Parts: sequence; C-alpha cells; structure tokens
Amino acid sequence: MSTEFDLFCVDCDDGAGVESRRPDALGKLLTIRPALESLASLDLSCVTVDSPSLNRPRNPIPMEFFAKHAGHTLRVRSEYGEFEGDCNTEIRPSSIALICRLPRGHSEPCVFNPKWPARP
Ligand SMILES: [Zn+2]
Ligand SMILES: [Zn+2]
Repeated sequence: MSTEFDLFCVDCDDGAGVESRRPDALGKLLTIRPALESLASLDLSCVTVDSPSLNRPRNPIPMEFFAKHAGHTLRVRSEYGEFEGDCNTEIRPSSIALICRLPRGHSEPCVFNPKWPARP
C-alpha cells in the first residue's frame, strides 16, 4: 500500500486526477510549469506527453490542468490531503481534522487555521 499523489490547485480547490506514487516527479513538473503552460496554450489536441516517472504506464501529463490553472497556486497533494513540504501535523477537534500548513521542520509551535484546507 503506497500513497497516491496528485497535482492540486489551491486557488480553485481542484485536483488534476493524476494518482501518481511519485511526489518527486510531480514536484519536477511544477518546476517546469512555464514550459508546460506554453505548450498547453497551443491547444495541440493531438499531442499527448507521457511521463513514465509518474508511475503508470503511459501516464499523460495533465496538460489541460496546466492550461486551466495557469498562474494559480499549484501544490503536490497526497490522497490524505497532505501537501508536500508542509508540516502536516494533525489535530482533530471535531469531525474535521485540521492540519498544520507551516513548512516541514518549522521551529515555532504548530498552527491550526480553520481557514486552511482540512484533511478530507
Ligand atoms: Zn486554479
Ligand atoms: Zn506544524
């Protein structure tokens, strides 16, 4: 059992539906966003860009997702609602689990802001 990860737009609360087990590969895609957004803007419907590192055979890079969310805040998110690079410590004051969204390894006490995305 391993965790699946997705690309997620924080601004729109929308996932790409990638289901990759390689958060590092997804993170690399985010580092080349300008190139992917340029390619996506050409609307080349015949072009499918496969990425073997995304873990599935012939797992296409979600070009529509990059076009739709150009300029938005994109993060790599686990199926448990954890963002890569965040502290992700959890408290459960009610039926909704709040997660600390400060950077991993932060020195100050954890912060649980109800306005931040909760764990599903
Ligand atoms: Zn968006
Ligand atoms: Zn924390």
